Amino acid sequence: MPPDCKFVFVTGGVMSGIGKGVVTASVGKLFQFRGFKISVVKIDPYLNVDPGTLNPIEHGECFVTEDVWDFKPVPGGQPIYESDEKSYRISEIDQDFGTYSRFLGIDMHPSHNITSGQIYLSTILSERKGKFLGRTVQIIPHCTNMIKERLLNIAQNEDLDVLLIECGGTVGDLESSIFLEAFRQLKLELPKKYTAFVHVTLVPYSKAVGQQKSKPTQHSVKMLQSAGLQPDVLICRSQTILQEDIKNKLSLFSNITKDAVISNPDLEIIYELPLLFEDQKLGDLLCEILDLKAKLVSYSKVNNYSEWLKMVEMYKSEKPIVRIGMPGKYFNISDSYISINDALEHAAVNQGYKTELKMINITEDLNIEKELEDCDGILLTPGFGERAVEGMIKCAEYAMEFKIPFLGICFGAQLFFAAFCRKYLGLKGANSTEIDPKTKFPVVDLMESQKDVSEKGGTMRLGGLKIKVEKGTRVFEAYKTEEITERFRHRYHINTKYIGDAEKKGIKVSSRDESGEIINSIELDRDDHWMVGTQFHPEFKSKPYKPSPIYFDFIKACVKNKK
Ligand code: GLN
Repeated sequence: MPPDCKFVFVTGGVMSGIGKGVVTASVGKLFQFRGFKISVVKIDPYLNVDPGTLNPIEHGECFVTEDVWDFKPVPGGQPIYESDEKSYRISEIDQDFGTYSRFLGIDMHPSHNITSGQIYLSTILSERKGKFLGRTVQIIPHCTNMIKERLLNIAQNEDLDVLLIECGGTVGDLESSIFLEAFRQLKLELPKKYTAFVHVTLVPYSKAVGQQKSKPTQHSVKMLQSAGLQPDVLICRSQTILQEDIKNKLSLFSNITKDAVISNPDLEIIYELPLLFEDQKLGDLLCEILDLKAKLVSYSKVNNYSEWLKMVEMYKSEKPIVRIGMPGKYFNISDSYISINDALEHAAVNQGYKTELKMINITEDLNIEKELEDCDGILLTPGFGERAVEGMIKCAEYAMEFKIPFLGICFGAQLFFAAFCRKYLGLKGANSTEIDPKTKFPVVDLMESQKDVSEKGGTMRLGGLKIKVEKGTRVFEAYKTEEITERFRHRYHINTKYIGDAEKKGIKVSSRDESGEIINSIELDRDDHWMVGTQFHPEFKSKPYKPSPIYFDFIKACVKNKK
């Protein structure tokens, strides 16, 4: 029996980076407007088992989920090698999940991010364990079966009306072809009207001829067709609205009715895209393809069309600017800190301001004072490794010196503590042992209990964890409750050995873990300067209609300091 869930597959053509994640989230929104329970799966065809180890410069930010998944590559079978029993803790997933969760307001389990690495690892280890009983193990059917099983399980276990599946990369990539093959098989095996295929492509504008060009899209549709898949809907990314003659051409050459050729022009506010799709009747069209009748419409802020419309209008309205300096080191692509950028924007817009982010790429010869001069506030970014650290510490010192509102996230909080210890405790060269393992003053360090385990890996503190908030602190003022849950992704900790002395000089520990042993946030104990560092990452939970409380208060402080 197939699950009572419909599947919408989203593929991409022409090139990557054209906003397929935003399209997938917006298509999901159309189903939410009609009262359906939905979720999203993202497929990443690379061989990494999870994106946790990928460099943000290459791949954008790593999103962190609430849950941590204990991924065991082999679900059954007789163990042959003891080492095969290993499981992998997965909570770091593709940044598109940030987009999905901001649009759709749902928390997805890390198993919703399927990588080729997971599929091949499971298949090969299953073979080693004798699961295939001597048969020849092949991409089809063994890998494709595993992909289908993963999708069907999610649909069934989560009792969904619609599951959207976004396939990363572009059609024609060798590594994504097994996923397209699994989709083709699923369409064949499921009853009629259970699947819909949405293909997202680029329609470039040729300045020389003054025309939008349809050829790249035609080619990518052909490529999809040669994999046995016919798109039901074409979503065309272009600078401006699609010209009528291009729509006609694309309809004719792609074998798609004209009403299913959808325009997706550049937008200032991405949250507007679902509304633009509604205007083009895409929601109704998909429901028709999938034989779905709209349910009782929800009036919750997240799922209601008119609430969403109101929200988009709020984002689009003219507003004064608040300027935030973001010193960091992963600036080669714009997506490295996307959840932070968005959380700052949510916090600002919800109090009548617009953010202007000044990304400050820390290099050795940079004049930091000059860079920070015109900023209303400083957000010190998360990160790993030695590069740019001294400069980032200087930024925290600058904030203390000139009383600039400051929010340090994870690494940013650790470096805030190092800066404080250097400046006010006189601990010259105080550092994190991640950066300087031989430092005389290891003010940020691994916990004793981590030190043995570190050889074997698995020391990363991950996922959503309970936090005990101290009353009378900035963090309490923001959250207004003594217990919160936020997400973590770190190994090193603010060293409690130094905290007594730091407290005497004006640091306040504003939150800890449940045991009381781990410091989860610090702040300056002063009324005239808002400076907070959180070991957790509140940006992962921020929504456009419900900003993160601590980001909200940070922006409030920046507004007060406006130059
Ligand atoms: N590198 C630091 C640690 O591992 C901070 C990590 C982060 O900023 N996410 O603790």
